[in-house]
Amino acid sequence: MAAVPTSALADDPWLNAQRQFDNAAQILNLSPGLRAVLREVRRELLVRFPVKMDDGSVRVFEGYRVQHNTTRGPAKGGIRFHPDTTLEEVKALSMWMTWKCALMNIPYGGAKGGVVVDPRDLSHRELERLTRRFASEISLLIGPESDIPAPDVNTNAEVMAWIMDTVSMEAGYSIPAVVTGKPLDIGGSEGRPTATGRGVCISALEICQRLQRDPASTTVAVQGFGNVGSVSAELMCERGFRICAVSDVSGGVYNPDGLDVAALLEHRRSSGGVAGFPHARAVTNSELLELPIDLLVPAALENQITARNAGRIQATVIIEGANGPTTPDADLILEHRGIVVVPDILANAGGVTVSYFEWVQDLQSFFWEEGEINRQLERILRRAFAQMCEQADLHGASLRLGAYLVAVKRVADATAVRGIYP
Ligand code: NAD
Repeated sequence: MAAVPTSALADDPWLNAQRQFDNAAQILNLSPGLRAVLREVRRELLVRFPVKMDDGSVRVFEGYRVQHNTTRGPAKGGIRFHPDTTLEEVKALSMWMTWKCALMNIPYGGAKGGVVVDPRDLSHRELERLTRRFASEISLLIGPESDIPAPDVNTNAEVMAWIMDTVSMEAGYSIPAVVTGKPLDIGGSEGRPTATGRGVCISALEICQRLQRDPASTTVAVQGFGNVGSVSAELMCERGFRICAVSDVSGGVYNPDGLDVAALLEHRRSSGGVAGFPHARAVTNSELLELPIDLLVPAALENQITARNAGRIQATVIIEGANGPTTPDADLILEHRGIVVVPDILANAGGVTVSYFEWVQDLQSFFWEEGEINRQLERILRRAFAQMCEQADLHGASLRLGAYLVAVKRVADATAVRGIYP
């Protein structure tokens, strides 16, 4: 397989995802046929659709739904609304979902979706109309047995409710299992809103144990204070970590003595962002990544840690709450510097794992209690963490490569045993 150039294209998430796959495929010695199948996406749907705006005008939006792989089960993956999203980004995110589900050993393939839009430019009604029309456009692909969306950047339980309602109205009956991350009232699961952050916190505790670090003497910076970042900060704070810096699109705040996370959440609620939080000094998002802290949690978007800043990162541990925050070039620099990266496909897999529980509950119409959900989540994450470490240690490799070796092997084995249709 030809090596992907690392300079001009280094920030293309799709090429980076393929490069990560190629590293694992090489060690696993996958056949050329298997490699060719697994390094491409199975289906990509691009839609352009009109939405009536509140002032009577019409705007046309572009959106995507991509299924990377469905060998181990229905495709699974979130939908993001972001002005910078692209088909290439969504393809990368769909591939990462395949490996994530395989690493957790849950019976799903990988998918992702996105609409090119800044939801802050839309009224609530416009957002609902956009969501419903997009859901209708991608209803060709989505369904409880085929492809199950979930929340991602700038989408939430309410957006999932609109998608569920749209698909259900078109079918003529309720189909709760078509999406996960729904409100509890319509078949959502206990524990889903906090699941990804809970997984980040479990990953942090596991890596501290592996590195014989005491959480109570570990300082933390979190980039992104949305669903993943804020819950991670809150739960890690509860478990004794000292959260010293957080940031979001409004800017960042830093206090080496630690931030009061509960007060910060209240500040975000009242002001819309973390900027301006008292008793802390303002930092930019790029400064936050390079602060003198022990543990860094990127929980915003891709390509935050690149060859340009990896040499200046002072944290000794990075836990990837976001998908794809570290480029492969940066990985090489971090590995060389002895910085341990707990990869996204493990660290943020709490969300898809509880999404899986939600889907199972919907299909059975039988709902579990939150304690049971959190126990099962912890069991699955700890098992995957141990399997990742085992492979990393066996090959003297990074945790990312260890995780990929587990995940890619599972998908490759399933592909081989199914054979090629017809
Ligand atoms: P979100 O929309 O709830 O939050 C995103 C946060 O990032 C916001 O605080 C936003 O202000 C901030 N942000 C955006 N651009 C930024 C920038 N340039 N610098 C700093 N902060 C910035 O989204 P989320 O659901 O928390 O997702 C965050 C990341 O986690 C994404 O990579 C997503 O794919 C990944 N993820 C989410 C889930 C989930 O369950 N929601 C699961 C797995 C992975």
